[in-house]
This record gives sequence, structure tokens and C-alpha cells, in this order.
Amino acid sequence: MKKTELLAPAGDFEKLRTAIHYGADAVYLGDSRFSLRGKAGNFGPGELGSAIAYAHGHGAKAYVTVNIFPHNRDIPDIERHIALLGDIRPDAVILSDPGLFALFRKRAPHIDIHISTQANITNAESARFWESLGATRLVLARELSLDEISEIRHRTAVELEVFVHGSVCLSYSGRCYISSFLASRSANTGECANSCRWKYSLMEEKRKGEYFPVFEDDRGTYILSSKDLCMLPHLPRLVAAGIDSFKIEGRMKGINYVAGVVKTYREAVDSLGGGAEYKVRERWLAELSMFSSRGYTTGMFFGKQPDSDYNFDGESYRMSHELVGVVLEVDGTRARVGLRNRIDAGDPVEYLASGLEGKLFPIEGMKDKDEADIVSARNEDVVFIEAPEGVRKHDLIRRAKNFRAAADQRSK
Ligand code: SF4
Repeated sequence: MKKTELLAPAGDFEKLRTAIHYGADAVYLGDSRFSLRGKAGNFGPGELGSAIAYAHGHGAKAYVTVNIFPHNRDIPDIERHIALLGDIRPDAVILSDPGLFALFRKRAPHIDIHISTQANITNAESARFWESLGATRLVLARELSLDEISEIRHRTAVELEVFVHGSVCLSYSGRCYISSFLASRSANTGECANSCRWKYSLMEEKRKGEYFPVFEDDRGTYILSSKDLCMLPHLPRLVAAGIDSFKIEGRMKGINYVAGVVKTYREAVDSLGGGAEYKVRERWLAELSMFSSRGYTTGMFFGKQPDSDYNFDGESYRMSHELVGVVLEVDGTRARVGLRNRIDAGDPVEYLASGLEGKLFPIEGMKDKDEADIVSARNEDVVFIEAPEGVRKHDLIRRAKNFRAAADQRSK
């Protein structure tokens, strides 16, 4: 049976490398001018080719997002972009605009086309329409239930992709003007300021400056807010529905998130099939709880759920672990590390590496880049440390955010 693809966000080169290192089968990335993540770091025209070559060199596929809704004035630049993509050959482009679809078919017919979730494919007729035009994959609208997806599967042969993890946009698959009106940052050009998650008040028009708080409980209101999506416990049902690709949201998120989520879903997808019953491991849930989230929901997959299943209830889950550094090289038991935080000798750290999960290792034998012994180093320093067996180049090093407080508490 064909294994379901694990598709990860690659907001910049480091996230791309991290996603592939932790097991993504494919990554999606884009040039900031044409993809719906204008603030995600992204890749300039000169960098897209290297990114695609890096993915291919490591056995992964690369899909380039060109999913803005362009105006006439954008078309000349887009035509130049199509010419570039024709040369650097991503495995597919992801788009939603019919005009762009026609342009790609005409100017770069050798590139596969995936239809973006922004095209709002919510029924089998729409799926068959795009299939008949030659689209090779459809990223289905987030508003579909699993039963609806199964029906689309039975009536089309085209590949189907769904989001399985990450933030959920309150709007209808991304069509929203809240951010555009309130922050002059259009979600439709990738600059969403997440205005739906701000706090709102009520003001009577003649009482300027008198704001009446709108609240549902003593923490405030969450009228426009959704929890984050997590389908990890339900992957077998998604496979049974005929989904070809599991997509992780988060081109704006950091490498800590990319590494942990990709590693977790990689293990989960690899454990599917083969006759054994699918079991969600405690360790996977523990890993997913290390990042800030708004609590998790199954979104629309199981039809209309009680509101409490979607609505953010004000209970933010703050990141419990912080990034300490990235392993740049390993030589025996010695690792060269690029730091992202201050560390001191003896700090208990974790390596995000297979077989080392959940184990703590104190920082030992720390030297600076000139090989001088040191007891402390700062963000952006490069240091050498003793590392346990099993650590690989590109592994992330993390530590609990509250370890100092915990240590102080113990010493009292
Ligand atoms: S403001 Fe909220 S609903 Fe609108 S596009 Fe941004 S995340 Fe989606």
C-alpha cells in the first residue's frame, strides 16, 4: 500500500533543512512575492533553485506556493517567475487562481499543479473540474468532514491532501479581510496579522474612549478564535478515507516547532499499516505539548462538534521547552553547536534525536571556537561540547524553560 506523504512547511532554508532532517517526504515553500506567507522569511528568486536542489539531493520533494490572488499589475512578474520555475523544476506548484493555472499550463506544462486550499474545494464536482483541467493534486478545504472527503475520493482519481496539524484560520479557508481592514495587512497576500485573535471591546459612538469589555469568562472573549488542529490520534481514519498527503501548517513557526512536529508525525505515519494496531504514544503527545498552542481540536473532520471543541477557551499552552542550539557537526562524542540561547556548564539539555527522547544530559566539556575551556556561552556563539552517542548533524538541542526555577526550588 502506498504510504501517505508527510508534507512540512519550509518558511526559510533552515526550516527546510530541519523538516527534511526530521523525516518530511516533501516540503512546501515560496517566493514571498507570490505565496500566502509574505512574512514567513521565504526564498528570493536566487534561493528557490538551491532549496529545490537541496530537497531533491536529500530524497524529498519540493512544492512551490504561488497562491496569491494576483491583480493585473502582478502578472508580468508572475510570468517571469513561471519562467524561473520552469528552469528550476519544483515537483509541483501550489496555486488557486484559474488565470495562474492557465499561465502555468501554457508556459511550464512540465510542472505538476496542486490546487491550493484557498480554491475552496468542498465537493466532488469541484474536484472533478480541477482534475479534468489537469491538476494532479487537490488541497481540500478545511471545512470538509471525513465522510465528504471519502465521497470525493470515490469520485476522483486525483491526489488528495489535507492539513493535519497547526493553526486554524477562522475564515473560510483563508478568505478574510479582518487583518486587511484592521492592520492594512492582507491575508490574501500572505501578510495576515492574526487579527481574529485580538481582544475586542464595545464602544457606544458618543462615548469616545469608553470601552466596554466583551467577555465570556474572567479571561476575556474568544468569539473569533479557534483552537489549533491536531489529527495525530486519527491518522488511520484519514488513510482509510484515501488521503495521499498529510500537511503540517506553520511556515511562520520556528525550527523547534518544525522539528518536533515533523519527527512526531514521521514516527506516527511509519507506524501505520503492517497489520499492527495504531497506538498513539505518550511520547508523541508530550512532544506536541512542548510548543505553544491554543489547545487542540479535530476541526471539521468529524462533522459539527460542540463549540467547545473548536473555540479557544483562553487556556493558552505556553512553550515548555526552548531551543538551545543546533548541532552543526559531530566528531565522535564531540559536537560543534551553533547556539540560539545562553548556556552554562551543567545545564540539563535534551537532544531531539531518535533514541534519546526524554533523556537529560548536562552540558559538559564546553569549549569556545578557539578550543579554550569556557563555563558559559551566549546566543549566536559557536561552541564544542561533549554529546551522547546517537546525536547527528542538524539535531536540535533543547531544555525545559523552567529548569533554573526547578533547580532553585530543589536547592531550598
Ligand atoms: S485574521 Fe484570522 S481569520 Fe483572517 S486570515 Fe488571518 S488567521 Fe484567518
